[in-house]
Amino acid sequence: MANMSEKTLFQKIADREIPADIIFEDDLCIAFRDINPKAPTHILIVPRKPIPSLDQLEKEDEVLVGHLFIVARQLAADEGLENGYRTVFNCGKEGGQDVYHLHLHLLGGRQMSWPPG
Ligand code: AMP
Repeated sequence: MANMSEKTLFQKIADREIPADIIFEDDLCIAFRDINPKAPTHILIVPRKPIPSLDQLEKEDEVLVGHLFIVARQLAADEGLENGYRTVFNCGKEGGQDVYHLHLHLLGGRQMSWPPG
């Protein structure tokens, strides 16, 4: 696990220390386009609070996580994803998580398959 006193990659993006295509932000979260998109629309919605993963969620984070989904719904509408979209939290090694700062993937603009790989 990274030294918690160091900023995460996504904190550096939020603080404009690393460039990103930021499309939304508010007091609780920031949203930007994924650098390696897996769909025509691929946005990451990231809480400002650097929670490492879903596994570290606390009861007090309930409202925050709900907020991420409300933002996802709004961004999906803004992106014109009226035919549907997918939201994903990858968690841990076998969940395919690479960046240990909680983030909700919003994917859309193509037909999704199931089960995911
Ligand atoms: P995960 O595998 O769920 O941890 O997702 C991490 C995501 O962050 C991947 O989809 C990466 O493409 C994306 N990513 C990594 N670095 C950057 C960056 N500098 N700007 C935008 N997205 C990034």
